[in-house]
Amino acid sequence: MPEAPKILSDSADCIDGIVVENNNKVLKFIEDVTADADEVQRRVLSEILSRSANVEYLQRYGLNGCTDRETFKKVIPVVTYEDLKPDIERIANGDTSPILCSQPISEFLTSSGTSAGERKLMPTIEEELGRRSLLYSLLMPVMSQFLPGLDKGKGMYFLFVKSEAKTPGGLVARPVLTSYYKSSHFKNRPNDPYTNYTSPKETILCLDSYQSMYSQLLCGLFQNEDVVRVGAVFASGFIRAIQFLEKHWSLLCKDIRTGTIDSKITDPSVREAVMKILKPNPKLADFVEAECSKGSWKGIITRLWPETKYIDVIVTGTMSQYIPALDYYSNALPLVCTMYASSECYFGINLNPLCSPSEVSYTLIPNMAYFEFLPVTRKDELTGSISGPTALNDKEKQQLVDLVHVKLGQDYELVVTTYAGLYRYRVGDILRVSGFKNKAPQFNFICRKNVALSIDSDKTDEVELQNAVKTAANQLLQYEASLVEYTSYADTSAIPGHYVLFWELSVKDSTLIAPSVFEDCCFTVEESLNSVYRQGRVCDKSIGPLEIRVVENGTFDMLMDFALSQGSSINQYKTPRCVKYAPIIELLSSRVISSYFSPKCPRWTAGHKQWCTQN
Ligand code: AMP
Repeated sequence: MPEAPKILSDSADCIDGIVVENNNKVLKFIEDVTADADEVQRRVLSEILSRSANVEYLQRYGLNGCTDRETFKKVIPVVTYEDLKPDIERIANGDTSPILCSQPISEFLTSSGTSAGERKLMPTIEEELGRRSLLYSLLMPVMSQFLPGLDKGKGMYFLFVKSEAKTPGGLVARPVLTSYYKSSHFKNRPNDPYTNYTSPKETILCLDSYQSMYSQLLCGLFQNEDVVRVGAVFASGFIRAIQFLEKHWSLLCKDIRTGTIDSKITDPSVREAVMKILKPNPKLADFVEAECSKGSWKGIITRLWPETKYIDVIVTGTMSQYIPALDYYSNALPLVCTMYASSECYFGINLNPLCSPSEVSYTLIPNMAYFEFLPVTRKDELTGSISGPTALNDKEKQQLVDLVHVKLGQDYELVVTTYAGLYRYRVGDILRVSGFKNKAPQFNFICRKNVALSIDSDKTDEVELQNAVKTAANQLLQYEASLVEYTSYADTSAIPGHYVLFWELSVKDSTLIAPSVFEDCCFTVEESLNSVYRQGRVCDKSIGPLEIRVVENGTFDMLMDFALSQGSSINQYKTPRCVKYAPIIELLSSRVISSYFSPKCPRWTAGHKQWCTQN
């Protein structure tokens, strides 16, 4: 298997030479693993299965120590999280026997995908951190082929940790990025011009989101002339930072002018780290103040950070809704999506990072995991629904194809087998083959299966929405009103975005229903939604209050007429429970009689409901 490139550190004099040498090593590694993709995949599977020969899960299905693809595919089922839940709960409750993986489970990564309203728990092992670091180390050498000189400046990245909890068995449970930023791979990374960030690690590791954001912006502004690239993980996070700046720039300018930090920043390690950077700079303070107090914020990023060459954020999938806002703030700087990853596994990278967001494709790196693909077909262009088997029969199982055998233009659901103990696990993402790098396919990210609504990292599916709406609508019955039809959409025209529900009612006497009744309904829906949604509302403030818009009677009939006029079949027509298509949203919006917002935040605590929290 091609060896992961060993990155040299820049302790020697000839930094430029080392950067070039490292870049070349990385690019050669990518050439090699993609050219040899099938053989690498064969070896990855064999390595995973030989290491895990003794684990209970594989023995349960009678793999008997076999490591070849044919036997593996014949005996091991294709599964979802729900299938693994009993095993995962045993691990969470303290069973340390080798259930899924022969190596000790080091922690759980809490996915933004949910099960029964709680975050999914993905077991992981220590060595996976190395695999994640490897994927990160590929990004900048690829980028540097298109934009030279990135090693000469800094990256202003807004990175955050989230709260963590402990499972009853004592394992830490936290999001994958929190785990990575707290690991020595990030904290004690060797000197590398490509990981030279404006934010000191203490500001990233501060759990208080206000203090973390404030101090990262302060350091970013102070070093504005060094910044050559800016970013965050998701587009929504980057826009949140710009909006924070809109609100707090005068306080930040005061700190830049005087070389001190506002007293609201109380974390001593953050204060100390920032004070190592900050010096009084009245000239810079005047400049930032002048730019921020101009009426328009158009192009604010290039105005404040004039050397910025691109914005590094994910704008594929549901994040594409933020492209207009990013274009506005940056005067259309390139938006660069560098990688595709999840709590289960880091998957791949974009080898053509300056392409337009609509053309982004990710090359899966064959040594990250063993990949299989389940063919799916797009059913309804109007609602964007995907059809694919839920529980697989034997024939469907045989349809799963290997990495190098996927077909150009075909859609697939991604299935992974990982070093950390997931075997033929359905990730839930739908990908479309857009090309090949040598033998390794490249994919457009199409969507996450079953996600109806998403603003930030929340992923709310139709069933969950249906249950939440049902609970809330029951409150109307005492006023002799009932819900006739509903649909929803994620409104990101203002930031933070929020969920909107369009409700058509049957009401005896609408004057009997006070606005507070609908506000209570909004709140009840929020309380019924999953923990990732509620965390976004309460903790990150990345999601605004949910809104119910009551529409005139007959609106949903008009919606059906519209769908039929666009070619939907009358026999198969079902009210879409989520809408994205602009003409439909316009139609619904033109029929709104009244609208109501949730009056307060729903409840949220870190960790699963039944666990005690650590922080
Ligand atoms: P999580 O498990 O919370 O880490 O979320 C992982 C999921 O985020 C993936 O399975 C995708 O659905 C989504 N995701 C990650 N990277 C990308 C990307 N580059 N473009 C679109 N969606 C992504």
